[in-house]
Amino acid sequence: MDDVRRWQVPGRVNLIGEHLDHNGGAALPIAIDRSLLVKARRRTDGTVNVWSRGERASFPVETSPGDVSDWSAYAAGVVWALREAGVTVAGADLVLESTLPVGAGLSSSAALTCGVALALDDLAGAGRPREELARVAQRAENDYVGVPTGLMDQYAVLFAQEGHAVHLDFGADPPTAEAVPADWAEDGLVLTVVDTGVHHELAAGEYAERRRECDAIASELGLGALASIGLDGLLSLTDETAKARARHILTESTRVRGAVTALRRRDWAQFGAMLTSSHESLRDDFAVSSEELDVAVDAALAGGALGARMTGGGFGGSAIALMRPEQVDGLRARVEAAFADRSWAAPTVFTVRPSPAAALLP
Ligand code: ADP
Ligand code: MG
Repeated sequence: MDDVRRWQVPGRVNLIGEHLDHNGGAALPIAIDRSLLVKARRRTDGTVNVWSRGERASFPVETSPGDVSDWSAYAAGVVWALREAGVTVAGADLVLESTLPVGAGLSSSAALTCGVALALDDLAGAGRPREELARVAQRAENDYVGVPTGLMDQYAVLFAQEGHAVHLDFGADPPTAEAVPADWAEDGLVLTVVDTGVHHELAAGEYAERRRECDAIASELGLGALASIGLDGLLSLTDETAKARARHILTESTRVRGAVTALRRRDWAQFGAMLTSSHESLRDDFAVSSEELDVAVDAALAGGALGARMTGGGFGGSAIALMRPEQVDGLRARVEAAFADRSWAAPTVFTVRPSPAAALLP
């Protein structure tokens, strides 16, 4: 194809700081070396064609929420949100090739929306800043596809740095992003992903429910965002469920700060302990884990991992564990056996490296 522009767009793993983005708190994701390749060519006939995973979808650039409801809604949503933001989209051919598992909690959706936003912005010569494209991608997912996600995934995909985690603060507007060296590899450690293969249908509904719960607690306490809750606020809550949800937000915010310090000091025992307590908090207080994720985390810890937790919104998807490379085969065997015992489909186990943000390939 002539005049084809190619964008490499990573997935992400959030190291810690879960469900804080939609509460004005912090997160600490890395981009990973599993990515989406977007090949983009301009059209001028007002049509967008998208090829992915053996399928082709087409829609006009003049699209609105409700028009498209299959997987290509993620692309159509970007076209809609970009046009709403004043970017001219004349049409495009988009070919997607991916090494990133879809629906595994590694943010294939943000890779797709951010990749398409970058590609179409580039074809239009608009040059909108990445902060704005992150919002466009979020809007596509929230208002076109109808999934009420925060901004963490888009920021991870667009602002990560190779060899670093990105410390995001959603209490600021626009959110701030600070790179923190993530060099466990230099100390002989690897970050392992267990993709449970489970993509719970209830995830979007439960996610929305947690958002509503958090918003209700924040307004009960008169807070602009729940992440600014203090101990007095927590203790003043009388409803046990509300208290548990708020306890996760308060303690997770503390853990993110601790994890950033531990990462800077390369204190892997401390860093790992933060990961594991984050998991316990998500499981017991925030109630967004799943049996499969708990089994994966337990298997990792039983095999000597320094720490392990679910990553992403929960109810399925993937868990992560920090461990020595020689422990990875043992984890794979243990988690496969545990899944087989329960008649669950086999999980997928692989390691990931802190990788660069989305970039135009030469
Ligand atoms: P995650 O972002 O964790 O992978 P989501 O449920 O948020 O999971 O997004 C998965 C959805 O995004 C898929 O069901 C599909 O509609 C869409 N999607 C993501 N990547 C691709 C791709 N490469 N090709 C087609 N659709 C994709
Ligand atoms: Mg997603």
